[in-house]
Amino acid sequence: MSEYPYNPKSLCADEFINHQEILDTLEYADAHKNDLDLCYAILDKARAHLKPSKNHCAVITHREASVLLACEDPGVEAALKQLARDIKLAYYGNRIVLFAPLYLSNYCVNGCTYCPYHAKNKQIPRKKLTQDEIRAEVIALQDMGHKRLAIEAGEHPKENPIEYILESMRTIYSIKHRNGAIRRVNVNIAATTVDEYRMLKDAEIGTYILFQETYHKEGYLALHPSGPKHDYNWHTEAMDRAMEGGIDDVGLGVLFGLDKYRYELAGLIMHAEHLEAVHGVGPHTISVPRLKRASDINPEDFDNGISDELFEKIIALIRVSVPYTGMIISTRESEAVRERALKYGISQISGGSRTSVGGYLEEERPHDTEQFDVSDQRTLDEVINWLMSNDHIPSFCTACYRAGRTGDRFMDFCKNGQILNYCHPNALMTLQEYLSDYASEDTRRRGEALIERELQLIPDARVHDKCVQRIQAIRAGAGRDFRF
Ligand code: SAM
Repeated sequence: MSEYPYNPKSLCADEFINHQEILDTLEYADAHKNDLDLCYAILDKARAHLKPSKNHCAVITHREASVLLACEDPGVEAALKQLARDIKLAYYGNRIVLFAPLYLSNYCVNGCTYCPYHAKNKQIPRKKLTQDEIRAEVIALQDMGHKRLAIEAGEHPKENPIEYILESMRTIYSIKHRNGAIRRVNVNIAATTVDEYRMLKDAEIGTYILFQETYHKEGYLALHPSGPKHDYNWHTEAMDRAMEGGIDDVGLGVLFGLDKYRYELAGLIMHAEHLEAVHGVGPHTISVPRLKRASDINPEDFDNGISDELFEKIIALIRVSVPYTGMIISTRESEAVRERALKYGISQISGGSRTSVGGYLEEERPHDTEQFDVSDQRTLDEVINWLMSNDHIPSFCTACYRAGRTGDRFMDFCKNGQILNYCHPNALMTLQEYLSDYASEDTRRRGEALIERELQLIPDARVHDKCVQRIQAIRAGAGRDFRF
């Protein structure tokens, strides 16, 4: 028996991600995985929340999600995937938010055995962008049409101190090249102190993203043998410190392939339950990265890889368990995998990404400082065109956090079904900006036809008329950055 009790309200990682509770959960799942009545009852419970309402949080528990994950019945799996599609449409409609990662520095003092930035890797040149180089990269990103970035850096107190991150954020927000602007900067940096989270909040961070990598403590300690990231509790309790520092929007994620996926799903949902229990706000986003080949990293050295089919099921389960959360998939995944993942719950994707430090300025995709192999190498324009041909609305909207709709206010907004009333017109207006300023002829034509069709679906006549006027203004070059 674990020496720690399970307590979702505790601030101690060993209690809210409780090892014994996860073992009991997996045992419960094995004991009930063939109980089809129970499986369908769990799906019915989740389906009852199809209409977003104010009075629920995570709608099925980590135990219930684990039963569905263990169940191999094809009928249950088909019903799960259908429900995931229905929930996604109910909460998020057919919009997909676009972003790009910006790698600032690959200096790192940690020893993560799966990451090419690990301190002992002599195969990669170490690089850190100067503010002038950041300016040039951001101009290149703006010229592609991006409005939302996720900045990434290794952990290195000397090379990448918080002051460097803050200065970089100021630089990024200050650049207004042609009609371009970066309107939301999400930050993916190592776990830090409440004071530093407060500084990030003051610098107008969007979402603070920190992947847990694995929830399995013993596995975690072996995968992170040295450096500050070795401290499992410091890492796992980071989101509580971020929230204490005033950051409302936090993004969770597991790096699938490192440890056993069933353990990870239970841990991930327990983390969401913990954030809701303590802060009244669940995770703003959940990312689903899978381990990839990189410089001196061979994913086959890690024996917990998951198939595409299982990956889709996990995405569907996260969508059904935590319906209000944004779900992110990156260019680690191929076009084919991304296409299916979008159906089952993904609401944000990256496009045109370069995962190397300084990569956006290179004509050819550089590999020497790349963090991992990029599977989806299409341009942003190709991604936008493809999304539309699959009946999605690409969105560059950043309105919520700029209108103060973050944390519990965002969750209330989302749980009240308001996403559909505000986000739909905002998506159409930001898509028009992209089409007018950056798109190829074919993408522009396809996009403007989509906008005409989608405008008809705005129920409120006043919002509809205003949205039409604003789209005309964008087309005429008479305005940008409108939002509801
Ligand atoms: N240094 C920060 C930290 O400690 O969390 C995060 C920045 S790191 C650039 C972003 C994420 O990349 C990591 O959290 C990890 O999940 C992911 N990553 C590392 N190596 C990877 C690999 N070989 N394949 C896929 N993703 C990887």
